[in-house]
Amino acid sequence: MGPLQKVLIPFLGLVLAFWFYSARDTFKPEMLRGKRVIVTGASTGIGEQMAYHLARMGAHILVTARTEAKLQNVVRRCLQLGAASARFVSGTMEDTAFAQHVVREAQSSLGGLDMLILNHVGASYFGFFDGDVEHVRKLLEINFLSYVAMTTSALPMLKESEGSIVVVSSMAGKVGFPFTVPYSATKFALDGFFSSLRQEFAIQSINVSITLCILGFIDTERAVRAAAEVLQERPAPRDECALEILKGAALRRRELYYRYSSTRLPLLLRDCAAELLDYLVRSRYRLPAPPGA
Ligand code: NAP
Repeated sequence: MGPLQKVLIPFLGLVLAFWFYSARDTFKPEMLRGKRVIVTGASTGIGEQMAYHLARMGAHILVTARTEAKLQNVVRRCLQLGAASARFVSGTMEDTAFAQHVVREAQSSLGGLDMLILNHVGASYFGFFDGDVEHVRKLLEINFLSYVAMTTSALPMLKESEGSIVVVSSMAGKVGFPFTVPYSATKFALDGFFSSLRQEFAIQSINVSITLCILGFIDTERAVRAAAEVLQERPAPRDECALEILKGAALRRRELYYRYSSTRLPLLLRDCAAELLDYLVRSRYRLPAPPGA
């Protein structure tokens, strides 16, 4: 083999491999056309934006949250934007029976389910851990147990459609964050449950994808109200965040990081320089002076 061929053949191999993987990874809005999707926590914030993107892509959408008046507006807008259909169910995810009821509603009104987007989040405080164990329990019910309950109820439909589960989590669910102790605990729990479940799906050849979304600071009203004064970081736009989540879900990614630079890159330090990562996390906050300083 001549020297030119020795270089050319591996080079062509690399080009073909690159083409194969990049072609496989291309998102097209048509991927979600006609899909039957539940979006929880869709009365506002990132969930609301996901509903609008899904509507533009022509999906069948079922949104849920507690505030009926807001959900009515979201449904109206989804229909204007081109949703194949849009409906809502209102109620609280503190109640596991309600979580199961939402899934039954999808079964009866949509005749099945292709994607379950678990996004809702209960209210918590931003400050030092106050020792309120009941609050931790309540938050676990809303942010974690209802996710488990909905997944369990939806699994038969998702197995049939070879569908997807999308779990919206946070950097605070991958690394310790100060001032959000109960919230972080619920997000770490999601990682444990859904990453283990993914393993079992692989063992059992269950073709249901699980996409865990690791988000940084996003400009939703709740987050900006809670953290904008304390965090030395500009929040990322919620509509772009919502679209990135849907792309990751459609491509059946195992994890999605948004924004990459403020989530995935710092997390690379976790195993080799955990204390440096902790320091970097703390340095993002405008901290009060210690007592007596
Ligand atoms: P958001 O604007 O506060 O919206 C939360 C949604 O959850 C609302 O639709 C709310 O509607 C619903 N909800 C709250 N309590 C509920 C309950 N008890 N039962 C049922 N629904 C309930 O939140 P977001 O900022 O868009 O966050 C969306 C997801 O992204 C969350 O999982 C959050 O942890 C994650 N995330 C956000 C950020 C950020 O900076 N924004 C960062 C990292 C991760 P009702 O009040 O009408 O019920």
